[in-house]
Formats: sequence, C-alpha cells, structure tokens
Amino acid sequence: MLKIEALNAYSDNYIWLLTTNEGLVVVDPGDSQPVEDYLGKYNLEISDILITHHHFDHTGGVEKLDVNSSLNVYGPADSIFTGINKELKEGDEINVIGINFSIIEIPGHTLDHIAYYSENNGQPILFCGDTLFAGGCGRVFEGTYDQMYESLNKLKNLPVNTTVYCGHEYTLSNLKFALEVDGKNMDLKDRYNHCVNLRKDNLATVPSSLSIELETNPFLRSHDKSIQNNIMQKLNLKRLPNDKEIFKAIREWKDNA
Ligand SMILES: [Zn+2]
Repeated sequence: MLKIEALNAYSDNYIWLLTTNEGLVVVDPGDSQPVEDYLGKYNLEISDILITHHHFDHTGGVEKLDVNSSLNVYGPADSIFTGINKELKEGDEINVIGINFSIIEIPGHTLDHIAYYSENNGQPILFCGDTLFAGGCGRVFEGTYDQMYESLNKLKNLPVNTTVYCGHEYTLSNLKFALEVDGKNMDLKDRYNHCVNLRKDNLATVPSSLSIELETNPFLRSHDKSIQNNIMQKLNLKRLPNDKEIFKAIREWKDNA
C-alpha cells in the first residue's frame, strides 16, 4: 500500500513523502529539518530521494539527508544541482520502493525540470515540482514560453484521473488570478470557494487531479473560447491568437499582476 504525505517547508513549499512496505521516498527535500523530524518521530529511514529541478527550495535538504552519500538521489541529467547520483532523461523508467515511475522532461520553469509519473495500478500519480501548480503553472525562469507550453501539453495528455502533486501552496492566488482570466467558469468559482474554506482551516489544497486542472487551470485552457476572447480584448487584438500565443499572454499577464 502506497501512502503519500505532505511536509511543510519554508513558507509555502511541500515536500512529498511516499511510503510502502519497501521503504520511504522523499520528493524535493528543500529543507532537511521537517524530514528529519518526521523520520525521528516514526523511527524511519530514507530509501531514495527524487528531485524535480535544481532550485534550492527543492534541493537544499539533500546534503544533510544524505550525509553518508549512501542514498540514491534521482534527478535530471543536465542539472546544475550537483547532489544527483542517478541521472534521468525523458522516457527513463525507475523503480523505487516498488513503484514504477516514468520520467517526463518538462523544461520551462528551469531547463532541467523533470516530472515523475506512475500508473500506480490504475491510480496514476504525478510529481511535477514547479511546472503544473494547482490552478496555475510555474514562472518561466530559464526556458522559453514555447517550452513551458509544450511541457504542460505533455502533462495534459496524461490520464485525467492522475493525482497531481506540485511543489507549493500557491493555489488561492492562482485561482484568484484564474478568475480574472476565466471569470465565467462555474467549476473555477466552485473550486475557488472550496479552496478558500480549506485555507481558512489551514488545510492543504493539494494534491489536485488532472481533471480539475483541465476544467479550471487557465494555463491548460488556451483553447477555451471565453479565455481567448478575454485575451483578445485585453491585448486589443484583431485576429485570434493561436493556443501558444494565448498561453504566453496569460503567463505574462500573471507575471505582471
Ligand atoms: Zn522552482
């Protein structure tokens, strides 16, 4: 039985912990302390570490957690983070604690960004770091808007029942912005209200599911007529932009919001 838990780190990071009877995996330990506290409390040890991209708030805890350099630290092959000893590329398959993951390269936020996807016996799971967020997507820091668009398209094509585990609690601000772009979307309004209530009780709004993202995340909805009209009005365009241009316009709108 796979159990997945979130540990809070920094102000809004999530470190994901996966446990099976074969061991424990940590995804993106940006800080060692919350992980060490958890391991101590339950008397557990780490089997493997998975890294999605090089940013410090996703990798900062690796050195302390792997103090004997004995762990498998999986991560992107072309990363500037030097703590990785199992380098991964598009299409690679790994098995950790009895779970098979496929590697999907998703550059854009950083050039080295990868996602870990598992079919997980019909209950698919995705760890996508800072690329696809609940209600939003990561900023394009190192790659191009085209790369980010293509990366999100790869994730869009995964099974709709995929549970999506992202790296930050950004959902409320993402959904607030989404309402500006896609204000007539009733599913989005419902989701926003639901997440407002979760945050009132200090509960996590993640994981989410790909089906919810497809219905409410404007960065996956460039094809939507109402969003297209809003962008055309906002940018004062005479012709209908293509889906890529719509994506770029939404991303730039959010960057400047
Ligand atoms: Zn990042």
